[in-house]
Amino acid sequence: MRPSKVHKPLGACSVCGALTNRHELINHRCDKVATGRRCYGTYKSAVTFLWDECEGCNGTGVVGTQVCSACEGFGWRLYA
Ligand SMILES: [Zn+2]
Ligand SMILES: [Zn+2]
Repeated sequence: MRPSKVHKPLGACSVCGALTNRHELINHRCDKVATGRRCYGTYKSAVTFLWDECEGCNGTGVVGTQVCSACEGFGWRLYA
């Protein structure tokens, strides 16, 4: 059995690119902390962004039995 592809995340931070699947975070302040400071970005709905399937896991979010480290298991990355 090959793992199936996962749905796109619900949203992402417009500043740091953090992904989320939590509805309640959309349009709320990002909760990621980088270098000791909370990110000043806001989570925006996924429709705002272009997405790329993660190359590390081919969009499945897992590599073998491990959560993909490149996309943290989301299976998608923001298109850059
Ligand atoms: Zn952020
Ligand atoms: Zn991945």
